[in-house]
Amino acid sequence: MGKIAAEYIWIDGQKPTAKLRSKTKVLNGPVTSLDQLPDWGFDGSSTMQAEGHFSDLVLKPVKFIPDPIHREDDILVLCEVLHPDHTTHWSNTRRRLAEIAEKHKAHDPWFGIEQEYTFFEGNRPLMWPDKGYPAPQGGYYCGVGADEVFGREIVEAHREACERAGLSIEGTNAEVMPAQWEFQIGPLGAPDCADEIWLGRWLLYRIAEDFGVSATLYPKPMKGDWNGAGAHTNFSTKSMREEGGIKIIEAAMSKLEKRHDDHMKVYGAHNEERLTGLHETCSIHQFRWGRSDRGASIRIPMATYQVGKGYFEDRRPAANMDPYLVCAMLIETVCGE
Ligand code: ADP
Ligand code: MN
Ligand code: MN
Ligand code: MN
Repeated sequence: MGKIAAEYIWIDGQKPTAKLRSKTKVLNGPVTSLDQLPDWGFDGSSTMQAEGHFSDLVLKPVKFIPDPIHREDDILVLCEVLHPDHTTHWSNTRRRLAEIAEKHKAHDPWFGIEQEYTFFEGNRPLMWPDKGYPAPQGGYYCGVGADEVFGREIVEAHREACERAGLSIEGTNAEVMPAQWEFQIGPLGAPDCADEIWLGRWLLYRIAEDFGVSATLYPKPMKGDWNGAGAHTNFSTKSMREEGGIKIIEAAMSKLEKRHDDHMKVYGAHNEERLTGLHETCSIHQFRWGRSDRGASIRIPMATYQVGKGYFEDRRPAANMDPYLVCAMLIETVCGE
């Protein structure tokens, strides 16, 4: 028995893009099960979640992981936001995903999300010159060397932290635009994959903070001939992963086409700046799917065709999307009638 620090993490009510918040609770530890973690409260009027006079909201712990930064028994606690009477708050998009996932659990949907982001120092991307621009894109993607790489020490510290925290991080890579990077989480069911994206984002901001660097998920941080930042969402159901799954995947494409506009509503704010038809994207006004086609809305990977089963990649979501909303939309469209 000793004191531990539990960092209670939640998602706020900022519009059009919600952001992460957290505060620290000192508890007797170690904590070994969720029911040892008390509910907590916060001032919703400071997080765009309530009006001034009746602003207390409830933090309900739903998952905890080891805190990879502090002492051995310290933990990070992911929370849902509830009203004082324990009904679901409008900003709590996780609850709805959990309900939709439960309803369609016979399909056993899996997700793998590729989270892209851009490091900033002040108002410029990390290590970009104060005036003018770095050399044009071409050598940066998966590059090596001080002339090609902008911020690797932060990326490595983040990846190691995700591993120590037990997240299902699969890899990282430098992106096409310098100072832009990606980490992948998955494959996992829902809401777990979305939970881990939010926790991975929190660790990214927190670790970059120690380097004096911020990370942004804005989908088009630099105008002009610089790639935007997405959150490709890879998806499969049980039948897609089994023999003959490619037919199930192709059948899902017409369902997805019909609901293109509904999907775009929850695929992230300012995504029209990114989905231009250039820079490995398809125009936001079109729906196109293709084999190994990185200019399509949805790509069916080569490996899926080769073995006749697997998954598809929805390339439309922006880096700043809410993974609870995106996962819910995909399950509803693909697994619904
Ligand atoms: P690329 O950069 O070529 O688009 P990545 O290697 O970055 O691909 O990401 C591939 C993603 O596919 C990972 O997030 C992984 O979790 C996911 N994935 C792999 N198999 C499945 C599957 N059966 N269902 C859902 N997602 C999957
Ligand atoms: Mn990738
Ligand atoms: Mn990428
Ligand atoms: Mn991808």
